[in-house]
Amino acid sequence: MTMTHATRLLDWYDRHRRTLPWRAPAGKRSAPYLVWLSEIMLQQTTVATVGDYFHRFVKRWPTVEALAGAPIDEVLSAWAGLGYYARARNLHACARAVTEQHGGVFPRGEADLLALPGIGPYTAAAIRAIAFDEPASAVDGNVERVVARLFAIETPLPDAKAEINLRAAALVPQRRAGDYAQAMMDLGATVCTPRSPRCVICPLMAGCSARKRGIAEELPRRAPKAERPTRRGLAFVLTRRDGAVLLRKRPTKGLLGGMDEVPSSDWREGTLSIVEALKQAPVPARWKVLDGGIRHTFTHFHLELAVAHAVAATSGLAKLAPGSAWCTVDQMTERALPTVMRKVIEHAAKG
Ligand code: SF4
Repeated sequence: MTMTHATRLLDWYDRHRRTLPWRAPAGKRSAPYLVWLSEIMLQQTTVATVGDYFHRFVKRWPTVEALAGAPIDEVLSAWAGLGYYARARNLHACARAVTEQHGGVFPRGEADLLALPGIGPYTAAAIRAIAFDEPASAVDGNVERVVARLFAIETPLPDAKAEINLRAAALVPQRRAGDYAQAMMDLGATVCTPRSPRCVICPLMAGCSARKRGIAEELPRRAPKAERPTRRGLAFVLTRRDGAVLLRKRPTKGLLGGMDEVPSSDWREGTLSIVEALKQAPVPARWKVLDGGIRHTFTHFHLELAVAHAVAATSGLAKLAPGSAWCTVDQMTERALPTVMRKVIEHAAKG
């Protein structure tokens, strides 16, 4: 059964494979650096978004050594907009480790890959399969869905993971393992889609239990998620007469670690007291709280920020708090400014 599945899927892949910026032409293998870079970028982000970032990164840092040699601030600012900045830090740390410990050549062994920063079981398997053609089983969300349906696994996620992983591993062929991994990803992305799977054109239709039982669209089941809490705060946009904005650096560890930010009050659950929040202004100024605000969703919480704006007086600003600096309009695109902070600045600009 396994070979039938793999053969059918590979035949389908040969005809319908997606063209992706990081994917090698048919019959060729992508360099491990490109596979790794794309896989890290694709975590939690769509193929469409990643394309431009991938091109820019590869143009600027064509090799893992080049990336390792780049200052971390440049990497973070090139990453800005992709979110989940801990990944960008790990990306850089991983490039350094590959350069320093492996002479700039990605290892192909599972244990060596897992020892590198930011590489978990999925990424290690994807690199081994796609870059080295090793029969490793790379199970991402797409593959999880396909396998849960093929075997009609009704246990909800995340409990179903162990069974899905076992089933997925048993399907991996010894030959063309890299193409097989990419074929499963493509099938999940284009045919076995979360809603309305296109079973009638699916190469695996004949052996698919969920389709036979008419429950494909319901799988995989998921345990109900805990509600994301909402935190609230007040952001302080202080501008100079030339349009420059006061920014400060966030602590290296934690959410948006090491990124630039507009100063703000604490972010807390519950109702925001503007009077209390204004006491946390970075400098005394004539703060005007603007109508509306911005909303942003992080992995574990929603954030609602009200925005206060003030124009800096020419006197009294000689001393900025450590870690704070003016950012001119021209510098804005160069800075490692997360999306949430860009929203705040745009809101203040609208007044
Ligand atoms: Fe998915 Fe349908 Fe194919 Fe089964 S037959 S793998 S449910 S697209």
